[in-house]
Amino acid sequence: MKVVVIGAGVVGTTAAWYLAKAGHQVVVVERREAAGLETSFANGGQISPCHAEPWANPTVLPKVLKWLGREDAPLLFRWGRWDPALWAWGLRFVMNCTARRAEVNTSRTLRVALYSRACLQELREETGIAYDQQTRGILHVYRDPREFQHACAAAEVMRRHGLDRRPETVTDCLAIEPALTAVASELAGGIFTPDDESGDAHKFTTQLAALAAAKGVEFRWNVPIKGLMRDGDRVAGVMTAQGPITADCYVLAAGCDSPLLARPLGLSLPIIPAKGYSMTIPVANHLGAPTVSITDDEHKMVYSRLGDRLRAAGTAEMAGYDRSLNPRRANLILENARRLFPDGGDFGRAEPWAGLRPVTPDSVPLLGGTRFRNLFLDSGHGTLGWTMSCGSGRVIADLVSGRMPDIDTEGLGLDRF
Ligand SMILES: Cc1cc2nc3c(=O)[nH]c(=O)nc-3n(C[C@H](O)[C@H](O)[C@H](O)COP(=O)(O)OP(=O)(O)OC[C@H]3O[C@@H](n4cnc5c(N)ncnc54)[C@H](O)[C@@H]3O)c2cc1C
Repeated sequence: MKVVVIGAGVVGTTAAWYLAKAGHQVVVVERREAAGLETSFANGGQISPCHAEPWANPTVLPKVLKWLGREDAPLLFRWGRWDPALWAWGLRFVMNCTARRAEVNTSRTLRVALYSRACLQELREETGIAYDQQTRGILHVYRDPREFQHACAAAEVMRRHGLDRRPETVTDCLAIEPALTAVASELAGGIFTPDDESGDAHKFTTQLAALAAAKGVEFRWNVPIKGLMRDGDRVAGVMTAQGPITADCYVLAAGCDSPLLARPLGLSLPIIPAKGYSMTIPVANHLGAPTVSITDDEHKMVYSRLGDRLRAAGTAEMAGYDRSLNPRRANLILENARRLFPDGGDFGRAEPWAGLRPVTPDSVPLLGGTRFRNLFLDSGHGTLGWTMSCGSGRVIADLVSGRMPDIDTEGLGLDRF
């Protein structure tokens, strides 16, 4: 079959790879000049299925209220204007904040994320792809003893689900990552997930695109799609400035733009952009940069060592499609990084970046078919798009090929809303 993949972020590119492997003729249509230049460009780098908890959970609403109006809030809502899609999303988010919903959503995300990590490892083995990956686990550190206690209880539950999540004392945390020494006195403890990984999503995406092209995938760069053409219960093509491109099947992997492309077809995808920031800091001759990937729970920040760079990323701002860099929020990332790793790199040469996470109200991606028989969704991966990309691509390739995916797709599709 001929398949058009819309978008060459990490999600669309991995889908294209698995579709080509399944024997399809694949055309990827991308408005930018290369792969991975939007949200997949400079993210936190973590492959973190072991921390696949949804944003919506029973503890988040009091925190959001506490942070309201604070410019340095890890999660900031700028919802002054009336936008029905935004408010509908917010209502669904609130409805997902119960313990029961959080458990269901965690298990759905985990299903995709764990599968995805295994697919990534297999792909790495098969192709030898290198992207500054580290396979030394992720250490989640806590300053607040109560938060640490909650995390230990959650780790216990997760261990019963078969996840290796280990509570660690401060001394153990320092043994795992000595670069934390400067803040040792502030820490209450940590949770270590040795099976998690990290790596540069952009490097991965560009290299996989090159491997896919060598397999015969056609990438059409600088081709913005203006809309999808419909013919009854099928998509007939995608309309571009250079004319229509037609195929037998279409995979919508346009990140935050997926709902905008789906809306004219009458498909309402509950995905909104959540802006996040990162700083990429050259390590140079500094000796205090971590090599184990770190999550700082209090500041909702992640750190990944990418070769000779340290990537610090975090914060979420619901402010529509504004991609501009707010210097104050970017600086917050840098200051948090400097406080945690005072000798972590050359902070004066840090490169700021902002990207829009495509988030669903339940933090579960939209994976699967639609009421259009030949249109598939691979969108809405939120905070874990890098983590879930390979598994999502493989599931979509199986669905397009009419094969049963390796994992159960219950609760992953648009029909759950
Ligand atoms: C600060 C930050 C930190 C993060 N940290 C992590 C992390 O540590 N681990 C993790 O797993 N995830 C992380 N994420 C999330 C992850 O980066 C995203 O979920 C992922 O990149 C989404 O990939 P995507 O391919 O769906 O979207 P994108 O990368 O945005 O790709 C979509 C592509 O579609 C193209 N497109 C859109 N509309 C059109 C159109 N009309 N015509 C043609 N092309 C179009 C775009 O140009 C783009 O290239 C982070 C995100 C942010 C912002």
